[in-house]
Amino acid sequence: MSTDIDAPGHEPAEQPRTLLITLTGTDRPGVTSSIFSALSGAGVEVLDIEQIVLRRRLVLGVLVTAPRDWKKLRDAVERTAADLGMSVEVDRGVGDNTARKDGRSHVTIIGAPLRASAMAAMAGRIADAGANIDRIERMARYPVTAIELHVSGVEPDKLRTSLVEEASRQSVDVAVQPANLMRRGMRLIVMDVDSTLVQGEVIEMLASRVGCEAEVARVTEQAMRGEVDFEESLRARVALLEGLEVSALDDVYEQLDYAPGARTMVRTLKRLGYRFAMVSGGFTAVTDRIAEDLGFDFAHANELEVVDGRLTGRIVGDVVDRAGKAAALRRFAAEVGVPEGAVIAIGDGANDLDMLSAAGLGIAYNAKPVVQQAAHTAVNVPYLDTIMYLLGISREEVVAADADAGIVTPAPPV
Ligand SMILES: [Mg+2]
Repeated sequence: MSTDIDAPGHEPAEQPRTLLITLTGTDRPGVTSSIFSALSGAGVEVLDIEQIVLRRRLVLGVLVTAPRDWKKLRDAVERTAADLGMSVEVDRGVGDNTARKDGRSHVTIIGAPLRASAMAAMAGRIADAGANIDRIERMARYPVTAIELHVSGVEPDKLRTSLVEEASRQSVDVAVQPANLMRRGMRLIVMDVDSTLVQGEVIEMLASRVGCEAEVARVTEQAMRGEVDFEESLRARVALLEGLEVSALDDVYEQLDYAPGARTMVRTLKRLGYRFAMVSGGFTAVTDRIAEDLGFDFAHANELEVVDGRLTGRIVGDVVDRAGKAAALRRFAAEVGVPEGAVIAIGDGANDLDMLSAAGLGIAYNAKPVVQQAAHTAVNVPYLDTIMYLLGISREEVVAADADAGIVTPAPPV
């Protein structure tokens, strides 16, 4: 039978007395079992447990109902702690933990290095906004230090604005994401290719073979900053490639370097069931080979026209421009059967802007200023696997999964 405590004639149930036990000291096997054995004699109910270990120093917090003879229990717990060589505090109080406030975010702070002054400034902005840090945990130590804060009390959009400003002053990266179930539902990653998945711009490498690298590089830079029309500028740059042998595309593919961490990110997230798509203003002759090498599910790019083994300087069909990239993202999302809000898009150029805003999480990766300002979040360290820390996957988990698969991941220097 249930009781309606709000019904007339019923007083709200009185909050039970509780004990908060905080144990600190050097971690060793059996600490948790010893403490709970001491508690079990009093027949108390466990309401909450939190434990962290930092450099072998353990902090264990246990919230239990207070028995009538709570002092006897306190003495038993203190004896157990003394036997373990640890310190303990027993605080008597009332009720459960205070409920977390509405307006909950995951705030990820990434530094290389992460300085205490940066943490002080970021935590200061969180406090200024009237928000509270409920929990902090480390996502990675190497090659970047990534810390995730669980914050409540302020709407994520409002918090993001002030933290992004502070992050740029402190030379750290920050991502502020609403703490809802959507992050767990993210299942499709749509990536730009040039200067995102691979280092450099393929069109510049091709242009160097016809002696006009400087000219093409200058126009590419303008296009990526959004200063010139992408389609017009791409057609003009491709026209300069007229007469180039198609084998040059194979040579350029062989020379390409992936962004650091690209393979680790793709390998790990594919294990977790993520699907990958690349959407590029570059060329299918190169992107299709990258897609095959990395095991991408989808790829969309421009097709260079070839006649008698040489480039004609023209593109076949429509140019994949800024709008075309966003349209491809929507098409791939529909094929996978996920809403656009469950898509993560990663890019660096102005032609990625529509794609980044169409996604649930748009990440500006070492991007042009115009892209950093518009995207949901910006990553400015040169490691693509950093993206995983924004998804709540720790480096420790990545290393463990790799070890299971017989892959050795680089270890930190300290
Ligand atoms: Mg790019």
